[in-house]
Amino acid sequence: MTAGRGGDPARSCWCRRCQRAHHPRGVGRHRAMHRDRGEDVTLDLGDGPHHYTYSRLIRGQTSIYDLLPASYQQGDTA
Ligand SMILES: [Zn+2]
Repeated sequence: MTAGRGGDPARSCWCRRCQRAHHPRGVGRHRAMHRDRGEDVTLDLGDGPHHYTYSRLIRGQTSIYDLLPASYQQGDTA
């Protein structure tokens, strides 16, 4: 994968729902945030759009990222 294409290579992932760019290392937890909220989301990850339908989450279709611990949730309910 090549960096660049006119954008900021440090933020090469785009969330179409939020209309915001994310660092590749941070987009995983950003997607998990949408998952926890039960929101559908489309992310452009450099190799094309990835559609995630969490509003009707079906068991067995989770990816490796969905198996990660939700440590990012700490202190988010204040
Ligand atoms: Zn988003």
